[in-house]
Amino acid sequence: MKSANLMLHTQTSVPPQSLLSALARIVGPHGVLTKQVDTEAYSIEHRGNYPGQAWAVVLPRTTDEVSAVVRTCAEHCVRLIPQGGNTGLVGGSTPDDSGHEIVLSLKRMNRIRNISPFDNAMTVEAGCILQSVQEAAAAQNRMFPLTLGSEGSATIGGNLSTNAGGDQVVRYGNTREQVLGLEVVLADGSVLNGLSSLRKDNTGYDLKHLFIGGEGTLGIITAATLKLYPVPRQQATAWVALQSPDKAVALLAALGEELGDRVTAFEIMARETVNLVLTHFPQMREPLPTAAPWVVLVEVSEASRSVPVREEFEAALVQAIETDCILDVALAASGQQRQAMWNIRSHIPEAQRKDGPSLKHDISVPISRISEFIETVVPRMQAIVPSIRCITFGHVGDGNLHFNQSKPKEMAKEEFLAAATAIHEVVHETAAAIGGSISAEHGIGRQKQDILLRYKDPVAIQMMYCIKNALDPNNIFNPGRVLPLRQSL
Ligand SMILES: Cc1cc2nc3c(=O)[nH]c(=O)nc-3n(C[C@H](O)[C@H](O)[C@H](O)COP(=O)(O)OP(=O)(O)OC[C@H]3O[C@@H](n4cnc5c(N)ncnc54)[C@H](O)[C@@H]3O)c2cc1C
Repeated sequence: MKSANLMLHTQTSVPPQSLLSALARIVGPHGVLTKQVDTEAYSIEHRGNYPGQAWAVVLPRTTDEVSAVVRTCAEHCVRLIPQGGNTGLVGGSTPDDSGHEIVLSLKRMNRIRNISPFDNAMTVEAGCILQSVQEAAAAQNRMFPLTLGSEGSATIGGNLSTNAGGDQVVRYGNTREQVLGLEVVLADGSVLNGLSSLRKDNTGYDLKHLFIGGEGTLGIITAATLKLYPVPRQQATAWVALQSPDKAVALLAALGEELGDRVTAFEIMARETVNLVLTHFPQMREPLPTAAPWVVLVEVSEASRSVPVREEFEAALVQAIETDCILDVALAASGQQRQAMWNIRSHIPEAQRKDGPSLKHDISVPISRISEFIETVVPRMQAIVPSIRCITFGHVGDGNLHFNQSKPKEMAKEEFLAAATAIHEVVHETAAAIGGSISAEHGIGRQKQDILLRYKDPVAIQMMYCIKNALDPNNIFNPGRVLPLRQSL
């Protein structure tokens, strides 16, 4: 597979002013931003990470405009950074600080093109905010199941490009599993028209999967046909106290046996994680008096009104108490109580931010090995920072842990951050050693390229370079993101 054409080229020339006029002719005068006051919000992640400098921000309104923008930029060898809601967490959606990169924002492409309840499908443009897609589906008595903490700002184009996960993956799968078809503008400006609501189409390679999770490095997604589902008419939510992550895995298996695929969320939180939220949000109350070492927030959902879901769920939980699988349980008796449970879960990132410096890992391991991962990695981290605080939470059903560490109270910030590289290494090494992944949800971007090269199968890396080179030979889409730039292989 070695070949000279595997090179990823870099362009370093400053884009000419004539390019700006050409772009303005395509997208209209309001579709090109160049003043720093207008471009700075597009040049930095919302948490203040990865500050860069956009040469310009271009905001097309149609697929034809995206195509013309790409063709024009390709002619000038100018790099394009696709951007949706800019909620990504790995530096993939913002320009670098060279001042030579153009941000291509999809946010003006926000039309719902079509909803077909009989096909259980909807076609939406890439710049649609996830929440508006959910609402449009609900208005047609259907459900689009992707739910994320960032759903009020993240776009479908960004969700697809990161193959986003979220709270309901245990039942519905990642974003990849919600897609029937894609429309994509390629590096030469041609448009791949793959919008289709077909459930079956075995006509060769399924090309859409290259762009899903591609983090904008292979093409610009302009629209997608998405799967819809029946609206759940019944829901029951429980706050469950447990002794260990092993018990959580056993509970998930037991609920699966009793309730089939009705389990729609299964979120684990360590005691220290719950306490952190309660410390920073003292108005919140834990639903149980038991300060158990671990907690899971379980939700079951059902479309039919006639199945006695709550009763079946309650019976399964009683059985779990009787078999010593769980210590205690509180079943939400109202929408308000359900919301109070979810508030504790959803406020973890904000509690961590308020608490100060932390190290974050977005790993996955086989579900059956979650406990083994934690039991192996914690002593290894403690050997580096003895009183390190583990703020562990995640989606047990996906084997995905947001395995974060906060600074010990008594430790200086500089000393803690100096240990970061060693801690990251221990976490990634331990996950990889038991068949896990270094990135379960957030992707690679500019943050995890070195560890991608270290842990991903070298043959897979070679294939990724080949695909990138075949689809974007002049490296204009998100250069140096996901795959590091290389002069040769
Ligand atoms: C509070 C919070 C909670 C979050 N929770 C979750 C979670 O539960 N699960 C999860 O998976 N992630 C989560 N995220 C991360 C983030 O929201 C997701 O990755 C989301 O899918 C990004 O969407 P976006 O529109 O903001 O994309 P952006 O951040 O704009 O872009 C992300 C990547 O996609 C590329 N891109 C964007 N649009 C396009 C397009 N149309 N065509 C081609 N490439 C494109 C960009 O170049 C970049 O590489 C969370 C983030 C925050 C801030």
